[in-house]
Amino acid sequence: MKPSNIRIDDKRYWDSLMQSAKIGPGSQGGMSRLALSDSDKEMRDLFVRWCKDAGCAVAIDRMGSIFARRKGSDDSLPPVLVGSHLDTQIHGGPFDGCAGVLAGLEVIRTLNDHGVQTLRPIEVVNWSNEEGARFTPAMMASAVFAGVTPLDWALARKDKDGIAFGDALKAIGYDGSTPMGGRKLDSYFELHIEQGPQLEEKGIPVGVVTGSFSIRGMNIRVGGENAHVGPTPMDRRRNALVGAAHLIVAVNEIGWGEHQARGKATSARIEVLPNLFGILPHHAQVTCDFRHPEVEGVERMVRALEARLPEIRHRSGCDVEIVERWQYGSEAFSRACIDLVRDTAKALGIPSMDILSEAGHDAFHITHVAPVAMIFTPCEKGISHNEKEWSKIEDLAPAANVLLHAVLARASR
Ligand SMILES: [Zn+2]
Repeated sequence: MKPSNIRIDDKRYWDSLMQSAKIGPGSQGGMSRLALSDSDKEMRDLFVRWCKDAGCAVAIDRMGSIFARRKGSDDSLPPVLVGSHLDTQIHGGPFDGCAGVLAGLEVIRTLNDHGVQTLRPIEVVNWSNEEGARFTPAMMASAVFAGVTPLDWALARKDKDGIAFGDALKAIGYDGSTPMGGRKLDSYFELHIEQGPQLEEKGIPVGVVTGSFSIRGMNIRVGGENAHVGPTPMDRRRNALVGAAHLIVAVNEIGWGEHQARGKATSARIEVLPNLFGILPHHAQVTCDFRHPEVEGVERMVRALEARLPEIRHRSGCDVEIVERWQYGSEAFSRACIDLVRDTAKALGIPSMDILSEAGHDAFHITHVAPVAMIFTPCEKGISHNEKEWSKIEDLAPAANVLLHAVLARASR
């Protein structure tokens, strides 16, 4: 394979990212562009305008995901899909998601600049609600697209103010009519910042994502009993917050136990009721997350926690039950697409390394309906889901060029 010498326009890609970064600013200099918020609408409107200016036809599906299509010379062939997400965390940065969507747009703009006509159509997608920061779960629209999650269930998911996803979509005018799924795709490529420190530490600009850590999540409910914080003797207290505290520390210790093997475990969310001064809480719910490069490793961590529950019950006097479990990360990326990304980097003279994804991405769901590959880029100190998240165009452009030529190769066959 010998790629042509066309390259993306670094300045235009960067300018688009910086225009996006101004929409939905966070309180600490980063981003806070929650799914289906007014700022999400503003960004979507800008993205749609950019795509139309680039000659694309734009379709919106029932989950509000945006598909911008550049025709192929045989437009009946399944398209090569490229994209990521334009929503951000509540305290997020300008590159998580946006780097991938806008790299897809830059691929199309570059092909236009050079008058390159591909055999297959190419589509750029912005998946709705990847972050799950406003509506849970994360990666919801790609899950519905791939038939992993039912549409009606997803449309009915509510944010903390009780607003349903479907109503929020209508409110911003992105309740599209394109039917969900059932559409043949040639392949799906997603460029994303690594969100970890490996590429930066090794000074390698392109991560060829070969798969994912195994990820297990669970909600654990801790049941205590309301009582006065003053007169109740210590040995009669059943404080749900204390039970949750024991649990959170146990999860953390289990993560440290697998640290050498690159395993990690944490609790990032707690709900406490009534959460008031003067009364022992009767209810707590803790969301726990376990990640490990090996399936056996993550299962070992989950078993370790299950083994600690009796002691936590005993020490806190509370009921402790796992009430919900989920898992992902075992989805297989496409060998052919992974090889294509690796070979393309090599042919372009860009250093790359194989890497596992340690975060969830829309690409995982799309593996159920198309061959998939992901390309990671370095980000400063590996910081992400933090308003300090940062990358430079020198970090992003090499991967964007690999994306360009991988997509071009795939769309030309
Ligand atoms: Zn992301």
